[in-house]
Amino acid sequence: MTHPVGFPILPAMFLIPFVTEPIRGNGAKIYRCSGCGALITHSDQLLPIEGKSRHSFVNPSGIEFEFHAFSSCTGAIALGDATEEHTWFAGYRWRIALCRTCGLHMGWHYEAVLRSERPREFWGILVTNLVAER
Ligand SMILES: [Zn+2]
Repeated sequence: MTHPVGFPILPAMFLIPFVTEPIRGNGAKIYRCSGCGALITHSDQLLPIEGKSRHSFVNPSGIEFEFHAFSSCTGAIALGDATEEHTWFAGYRWRIALCRTCGLHMGWHYEAVLRSERPREFWGILVTNLVAER
């Protein structure tokens, strides 16, 4: 399973202004955007997919992507139409996921093709683009 090479650069005008204060939940670790420091999600949102929450895939160019799977990412937005093409997770369509605040490419949002699939959706957020904070 592979992903296409190259990611679109998002013009700033597509970014939706969104102001939110981080909510610390149950001592969970905070994950921030490495580009702008905005809150992306918390460690209590980590979600095992196919048995693990940390995944690693190599695209056709040989670039390795390592990411965490989260059930919710309040600091990210999914962009464009979902596609099954080159998906890394059978039964799931993906879209590009960006930091809601600065537009940095954070990873991918996955949604189930079948309504019966569980989870219905999740986020794959690149480890390199997250800064962890307690
Ligand atoms: Zn950002």
